[in-house]
Order: sequence, then structure tokens, then C-alpha cells
Amino acid sequence: MKTSKCRIPTLFLFISLAVFAGLLYRFGEHWLHLLLLYLSGAAWARQFVSELPIARTVAARFVAGETADDAINAARTLNAKGISATMDYLGESVTNAAEAAAARDEILRLQDRIHESGVNANVSIKLTQLGLKIDRDTVLENTRQILQRAQQYDNKVRIDMEESGVTDATLNVYRTLRDEYGFGRRVGIVIQAYLFRSEADVRQLVADGAWVRLCKGAYAEPHNVAFADKADTDANYMALTKMMLSAEARQNGVYLGVASHDEAIIRKTIAYAQENNISPHEFEFQMLYGIRRDLQESLVKDGYQVRVYIPYGSAWYPYFMRRLAERPANLWFFISNFFK
Ligand SMILES: Cc1cc2nc3c(=O)[nH]c(=O)nc-3n(C[C@H](O)[C@H](O)[C@H](O)COP(=O)(O)OP(=O)(O)OC[C@H]3O[C@@H](n4cnc5c(N)ncnc54)[C@H](O)[C@@H]3O)c2cc1C
Repeated sequence: MKTSKCRIPTLFLFISLAVFAGLLYRFGEHWLHLLLLYLSGAAWARQFVSELPIARTVAARFVAGETADDAINAARTLNAKGISATMDYLGESVTNAAEAAAARDEILRLQDRIHESGVNANVSIKLTQLGLKIDRDTVLENTRQILQRAQQYDNKVRIDMEESGVTDATLNVYRTLRDEYGFGRRVGIVIQAYLFRSEADVRQLVADGAWVRLCKGAYAEPHNVAFADKADTDANYMALTKMMLSAEARQNGVYLGVASHDEAIIRKTIAYAQENNISPHEFEFQMLYGIRRDLQESLVKDGYQVRVYIPYGSAWYPYFMRRLAERPANLWFFISNFFK
């Protein structure tokens, strides 16, 4: 590793942070979680960590590779085990229209590759990568093109949910495009169980008969918008799952993706489905690439549908840091390899 004069203070800062993180890991996981979420958005940390060869190696556990072909190959391997896929071209929060257009073009090429290769997969997109923070017309037009391509190939598009500052804008773009002719069943949305507002959002989505992925939520959120306590998020997760698996929701056409690696949540969802005669084909489980492969495969063996979210591309830093924040043991593996 190069240690030019300007990088020595950064290296010192990183080592101090690593030691600090080690202490936090030992004495307070909650604070470590918050520190990692802060670092996921810090430009100085992004530059430094992205250049570390060990960071790339550890990130490779969660990211399929740099190109669309890497993602297609990963999907092929999963498909062979009976698991479907959704692919994400990594990148978020772009600030100029040219970058947003470049991301859109890559996603359009990805849709072409999915169609040509015949893999069982769709795409997941982040609206801040397509211009949500630039202006409404830019993001609408870029996303519309992706939906048109999905329509051409009779496939679907999932809009990921990002930090709470863009929840309203994301739902607004989703609703606008869903209501455009022909896009209604092509596009799905994500709801985060840690947000207080999600119950009201889900009530509306149940009435609409929407295609919804439910996750716990992966961003650092203030206490006035999100549950601080994991137990409250978990309880809300189950309450929202039951709302979206209700007879009324299914009659309206709701199709739920239960996106979690939490075995308690998965067990409770299966029990609820069995008690209410809900067939395993009326919903699906979703997990992230590289996490709980054993659980993915055992659910398929038990007759459940499983979809894996496959990220690829070079902008892996924020995604990687959110995965470290979710499970501090991942961070320990990263730091110990750094010092080796
Ligand atoms: C398919 C999919 C799509 C998602 N899309 C979004 C989105 O659009 N917006 C959003 O905010 N969030 C999204 N997330 C992330 C989600 O919000 C959570 O941050 C993440 O899934 C961890 O929560 P959990 O439900 O697995 O439960 P946790 O309680 O966090 O974890 C339960 C168990 O899962 C395993 N586990 C969880 N995370 C990891 C990890 N990183 N490394 C290793 N093991 C782990 C551990 O065994 C852990 O004990 C998505 C998650 C999935 C699965």
C-alpha cells in the first residue's frame, strides 16, 4: 500500500478508528452500528476504504463483481438451485444529469443482458441514482425508460427505498409511473419496517393491490421518524407482514417479498401462512447476495420461493458499509485482515 505524505494522516485516522471500532464492538454494538452508518456516507472514508485491496476482498462476499456479466453468472448459479434474482447496478445520490443518464443506460443494457441470457431475474433500482436529487423530470424520464424496457421484455422493476428524506419523493415517482398506462403491474416498491409512517403507507398499498418488498431498513434515521429499538422494528415487521398477507390484500393483488435473513421473522411468516391457508406461491422470501446461503437453500427445499438481490458495479462502498453495520462481526473480519 502507498503511504504518500498526504495519505499518512488518513491512514492514522483509519487505524485510530479501527481501534475505536474494536472497543465499540466489545462494549457497545449500537454505537458501532451508528458509526458505520455515518461512515457509509462520509466522502473521506469512501475514498480511503475503496482503495484498500482488503476492503475489495471483503466486499466481494456481498457484491457479485464489477460487470453485468458477473451478475448474470451469479444469477445463473442461483437459478440452478431454484432461486430467482433481482439485480442492482450499484450507485446512489448522483448530483448531475449526465451521471444519472449513464446509470440509466447501464440498467437498460442490464435488462437486455437478462433477456438475452434467459436468467430468471429482474432489476432493482435506486431513484437517487437516476436523478431524484436533481429534479423530478430527470428521474421520471430515466425511470420511465427502464419501465418501458421491462414492458418490452415482459419483466419487472423494483424501486428500492433509501433514507427517509426521500421516502415521499420515491413514493411519488412510484405512484406516478405505476398509474401510467401499462406500468401498473411492472413496478414494485419497498417499505421499511423501522419507519413510523410505514403502517399508513402499507394501508394505502394494500388498497392499491401493490407489489411490495418489506425490509427492516438500512439507513441511519433520526428518532422522530424511526424506531430506535430493534425489538420495535421486528414487531412492526410482523404486523406489516400480516397486513400484506391478509385475505383483503391478496384479493386486491398484493404480492409480498419478505426481505429478511432473520430466522424468527421467517419462522413466524411461515407459521402465519400455514395457519391462514396461504400458499407458498402467494409470497416470496428475499435475501441479499452472500448472506445466509444455507437458509436460502433450505427454504427452497421446503417449497418456498426465494429471490436473491445481486449487486454489482464499482460503486460498492456505501452498500458494503451498510452490510458491515448490520453485523459487526463482518467488521471484525475486515479489520483483522487489514492488520494481517
Ligand atoms: C432483498 C433485500 C432487499 C433490501 N432492500 C432494501 C431497501 O430497498 N432499502 C433498505 O433500507 N434496506 C433494504 N434491505 C436491507 C434491510 O433493510 C436490512 O438492513 C437487512 O436485510 C438486515 O436486516 P435483516 O432483516 O436481515 O435482520 P437483522 O436482524 O439485521 O439480521 C438477522 C440475521 O441475519 C443475518 N444478517 C443480517 N445482515 C447481515 C449481514 N450484513 N452480514 C451477515 N449476516 C447478516 C445475521 O445472521 C443476523 O443475525 C434489503 C434487504 C434484502 C434482504
